[in-house]
Amino acid sequence: MSFLSIKTPDNSSNFQVRYNKAESVGILTTPNGDTYFILDSGDYWYDMIQTSTPKIMKCSCKNDLFSAQFEYIKRTDHDDFKSVKLHFYCTKCSKEKTFKVDIKYSPTIQLFNEPLKLCMKPFLKYKLNHYNCFWDIGNEAVIKYVDYMCNTLKLYAICWFWDSNEKESIRKVDYFDCNKLTDLLSDATFYKSVFLEIHFTAEKLPINDFIETHDNIGVYLKHDFWRYQEIITLRKGAYMLYKGVWCEANTIKSCNEYILNDDIVQKSQKFNELTLSLKKWLTENFDTTRSENCFDIKLDPTDPTYTKLGSLKLP
Ligand SMILES: [Zn+2]
Repeated sequence: MSFLSIKTPDNSSNFQVRYNKAESVGILTTPNGDTYFILDSGDYWYDMIQTSTPKIMKCSCKNDLFSAQFEYIKRTDHDDFKSVKLHFYCTKCSKEKTFKVDIKYSPTIQLFNEPLKLCMKPFLKYKLNHYNCFWDIGNEAVIKYVDYMCNTLKLYAICWFWDSNEKESIRKVDYFDCNKLTDLLSDATFYKSVFLEIHFTAEKLPINDFIETHDNIGVYLKHDFWRYQEIITLRKGAYMLYKGVWCEANTIKSCNEYILNDDIVQKSQKFNELTLSLKKWLTENFDTTRSENCFDIKLDPTDPTYTKLGSLKLP
């Protein structure tokens, strides 16, 4: 393992710390006000602060200034780091606070070569729509959603999918019209095991623009390409128990603005209207009691549908 004593390019080594332990994301601010992302926090910080910003960390002695040392722990089989321990020491009483960041990708050397990244505007707000949806594993909700997106909002659907039960299953991506997509989703056996993302767009965009790479088991799309395009994306999620019924924890994401080089870029008014229409439709058709950004199937125990849904077994 290796230790790095954390210093900025102008040799500041004392920081105010804002850190979210659950997300492993945080920033350091020097006494003269320069702010730096910790490790790769820049990839996640802005999404996180749209809902909540971590408070300035305080020592039990009430001081809020810390020095920092990062401890890099290597994997046993190769040179990548499997985790980084962040050690913060109170500049008044020397008491330590430690956080562990697990790293699940490769290569990782840049986290050692550049442990901090300058952040010009740490508190930029942009319009992100991130919805959580507990939907039935019997696929009725997703079919209703596809019908609304294709037939009412008149959007094109790009579908990226593969059968997650099959080893070496080919990852495919293509435009699907509403009927073809509904047929695919109506195959209940296939639907239960499919990995699925559906990207809806008002313009027929070239799919090649979103492909990161091809290999012998198919196509990988670029990470979060929907951010920079006028796209509303749905990702089929894991199975979870909700009110005693197995559901899929799906997510729907889009943004009306995005951050590029520390500035906010606006998407079109037309796209803004599409996202507003979708939110209105979701609010009218789903249960929002968990939060205003949660659109769950309505589970009323007196409704015969509840019994039908409750009888759906986890595949
Ligand atoms: Zn202290």
